[in-house]
Amino acid sequence: MIVMKFGGTSVGSIEAFAQVAKIVKQKMAEQSTTSHPGVVIVTSAMSGVTNTLIEAAKKAASTGDENAHREIQNALLAKHRAVADYFVKDSTERAALDRLLEERIAALERLWRGIAALGELTSRGLDIVSGMGERINAPLLAAVLRAQGLKTEALDATELIVTDDLFGSAAPLMDLTEQRCRARILPLLEQGVVPVITGFVGATTRGIPTTLGRGASDYSAGIIGAVIDADEIQIWTDVNGVMTSDPRVVANARSLHQLSYEEVAELAYYGAKVMHPKAVSPAVAKKIPVLVLNTFEPTHPGTRILEHSNSEEMGSVKAVTAIRGMNLITVAGRGFIGVPGTAARTFGSVASVGANVLMISQSSSEQSICFVVPELDAAKVIDALHTEFRKELDRSYIDQISGHGNIVIVAVVGSGMRGTPGLAAGIFKAVSEQNINVIAIAQGSSEANVSLVVADPDANAAIRAIHDMFELHKPTAERTGTR
Ligand code: ASP
Ligand code: MG
Repeated sequence: MIVMKFGGTSVGSIEAFAQVAKIVKQKMAEQSTTSHPGVVIVTSAMSGVTNTLIEAAKKAASTGDENAHREIQNALLAKHRAVADYFVKDSTERAALDRLLEERIAALERLWRGIAALGELTSRGLDIVSGMGERINAPLLAAVLRAQGLKTEALDATELIVTDDLFGSAAPLMDLTEQRCRARILPLLEQGVVPVITGFVGATTRGIPTTLGRGASDYSAGIIGAVIDADEIQIWTDVNGVMTSDPRVVANARSLHQLSYEEVAELAYYGAKVMHPKAVSPAVAKKIPVLVLNTFEPTHPGTRILEHSNSEEMGSVKAVTAIRGMNLITVAGRGFIGVPGTAARTFGSVASVGANVLMISQSSSEQSICFVVPELDAAKVIDALHTEFRKELDRSYIDQISGHGNIVIVAVVGSGMRGTPGLAAGIFKAVSEQNINVIAIAQGSSEANVSLVVADPDANAAIRAIHDMFELHKPTAERTGTR
């Protein structure tokens, strides 16, 4: 039994829907010969739809114009109807689909008008609006697949994934979610029905719609796959799996056959766009393989994500990625030396303004601590630190609180770095040969990642140099030396 998640571009056009139908039919046929058959689909909204929904809500709130959404509303109707026109010829099916589409669009219209009247957009309101793309698309995809001869049923994850009420990035309550998913999904599979489930959304125990975070349909697939004990979770996207680096930066980047859960989580965290950072986490405890596959080149093997990847035996680096638009903040002074609590106060200030810390580095002399936050948050973090340490600044226990803008974290990832001496040396040799100044360094205690902070104009050269040094353009087994 497999879970197949289709991303926005995989359901972005008539041609893409046709591709999806072909792939699902083939998987259903393959599954029928297994001992534990079944296909569960998780779908994103059609590409661009979520952004459009959010844009309309923001426009309504800022202009107060109760008709600001009109054009968007018509475009949404047309976009989904074009798919229905092409595939859904049965008149009863089509009438039911039209009714549903109109109902959901009418609900959106009421919401947008309400937001305009109030002149305010709450995070709870935004979640109801932004999840509607999936809640339109799942019934549409289910109808398209039925028109292609499959038995399907659309399911709304607001009835399956139970979450807390952290609107905008809600967390699943796994026990309740497991009960509901198993009760609803497993009987369908026994009848040979393909459930087509909305990604991205959930609801609180009281039934209030939530979303799991932007791009989180992958996470939905991970959650559902884990609670129903799928044999495999497939993430269908528009590229051939996870690559050794961004092909726009490194011309000879290639797709990776294997990655470990740990490696893919590091990569996603450090900006590789291919998957949501939380997507694999529910699969880890049950050791369910996660595959990243290309809807538009379905015979490509893509990337298989497992508990252990081959890089561990090979002692090798897997990939190099970058996260841009960052700021490196330094807090320094003798107030740090042997004074417990200074670091806690530093990160307390960062947390108090809701900023996310992506990397931390402290020199062993304890004279300073530096950490990386998104550029957008830098000014408020620095303000908060000035307030927190006002006394220490007055007494010169702390003499520097400063930001260094326009920086990039270059992250080198591979579980095989653990216990392999010389890899870090290789990384620094690669960048120093290009005369690139490394501003800060950090290694996670997992040793699956070494991160370098460099100035933005140096980032691409650093990435290429590291990619070359470790011969990442070659399959792992073909590389020379221990690297
Ligand atoms: N449609 C949602 C978004 O654009 C979720 C997803 O595509 O994964 O964020
Ligand atoms: Mg996505």
